Amino acid sequence: MELSKFISKAAKVGEIYNLHHFRLGWQKPEYRRLMGNELVYPPSPKVIEAVRSIADRLNYYPEDPYTDVELRAKLAEYVGLPGRADWITCGNGSMEVIDLLYKAFLDEGDEILISTPDYSPYTRRVPLYGASVVSVLPVDQDFNYTLESFTSKITPKTKMALVSRPNNPDGHQISRELVRGLCQTGILVVIDEAYFEFGDSPVEDLLDEYPNLVISHTFSKAMGLAGIRLGWIVARPELIEAVNRVRTPLNIGLVTKVAAMAAIDDADYIRENVRRVKEDREFLFNELKKFPGFYPIPSQANFVMIRVTNGLKASEIYEYLLGKGYITRSFVNARGLPGDQYFRITIGAHEDVLGVLKELRNYFEENSISLQSTTVKERM
Ligand code: PMP
Repeated sequence: MELSKFISKAAKVGEIYNLHHFRLGWQKPEYRRLMGNELVYPPSPKVIEAVRSIADRLNYYPEDPYTDVELRAKLAEYVGLPGRADWITCGNGSMEVIDLLYKAFLDEGDEILISTPDYSPYTRRVPLYGASVVSVLPVDQDFNYTLESFTSKITPKTKMALVSRPNNPDGHQISRELVRGLCQTGILVVIDEAYFEFGDSPVEDLLDEYPNLVISHTFSKAMGLAGIRLGWIVARPELIEAVNRVRTPLNIGLVTKVAAMAAIDDADYIRENVRRVKEDREFLFNELKKFPGFYPIPSQANFVMIRVTNGLKASEIYEYLLGKGYITRSFVNARGLPGDQYFRITIGAHEDVLGVLKELRNYFEENSISLQSTTVKERM
């Protein structure tokens, strides 16, 4: 039987997102996971206790995020919006949340502006909804954007702009002024704050001023709970209602809920982890600058992306580090990252940072590249 006749238009244009790096991480538990911007520190004892304490009630359905005011109230408070539970809804990770936003707001023929590079699943799922991606390019090699970069791409078909802030994979954070400017254009502005705890200026306060602003969050980064899959968005209740209408009911599991609540309650634990990551990020960044041909991009997130020059190949460095037990991420001809010149290191524990630096020095030595030579002056 010809099975292709059953496949919908959306499934025909859909792509499978390659997540083999996580497979590798689970297959090789002895390797250090510096590839997916997870936190390497385990959940706080309070989170572990909360998960244990719900285990004997897993025979029951959880509440739906729509009725679960308790969870949403806590999330609202976490981002400084106490009493605004109705400004929030949840998804199974922010990957689902982004999809829900597409489902709720994109129609056939719409255009969506997406910064380039940015988190790669953003672009892949747009065609599922009959919309198209318009790539917005940075103005320099440090991945800065101007308002013009975006406004010059706006057409009558533009429905939405989507930017991660700080950005994955480059670590750069667009300015608050730029977010304001985007909101003033009147299109829907989605700011993915997956990494905002590692940055220095969340934009939640702009929600009062701009009703067309939507902010996305996750428990996978600073909260250190990538395994529970909790993402959530903050926006005006009218927009949240629209998202709830397209959301699958009961999409947040019971374990996810209790772990998330306990994590927020243990604020000191989160703060300390974030402090460590930021300290190690600055250390790594400064050390990376000393390698000839390396140009680390200043980062406000829990990773540093490096551009390699002088004939070095990012994929070769990735393979070398992998051989030494460090899983990093190389980007070869990725969207907005041409050639074989970019790789990214997630900030692990301090020993991971030291270990990676040691192996990088070994790589240079084995390839007879002198570490004495000057660092790249020309910042391309
Ligand atoms: N947004 C950005 C910018 C990310 O980098 C990631 C994960 N790498 C996500 C969203 C997905 O996060 P989640 O685990 O919540 O689906």
